[in-house]
Amino acid sequence: MATTGTVTFNRDICKGCGLCVVACATHLLELDEAAINRKGYHPVVILHPEQCNGCANCALMCPDQGITVTQDRIAREGGARAERAGQAQERRGEEHLVHA
Ligand code: SF4
Ligand code: SF4
Repeated sequence: MATTGTVTFNRDICKGCGLCVVACATHLLELDEAAINRKGYHPVVILHPEQCNGCANCALMCPDQGITVTQDRIAREGGARAERAGQAQERRGEEHLVHA
């Protein structure tokens, strides 16, 4: 199973401290120089949302709880095949128990 993530920001409470920017090991975040929020700061923005792995380091780092991360699991082809094989095996096991 691979994990991806969806990140949402509360841009109005962001104080532009940049802690989440530093915390993202895949360098997906930056302060949005083109925007100013209600507090007068440049809020954070995600550059490549499709590359987020859902690690949630950014959310853990934010002192104002301004970030929410949703983790999604994606079964890779091999994993899905193994899962189907496991389910088939389980079904055979159940049949075996019924006939025993
Ligand atoms: S969840 Fe992880 S990968 Fe995604 S933006 Fe936050 S720190 Fe970066
Ligand atoms: S850690 Fe929180 S307050 Fe700081 S830039 Fe990121 S979202 Fe904004």
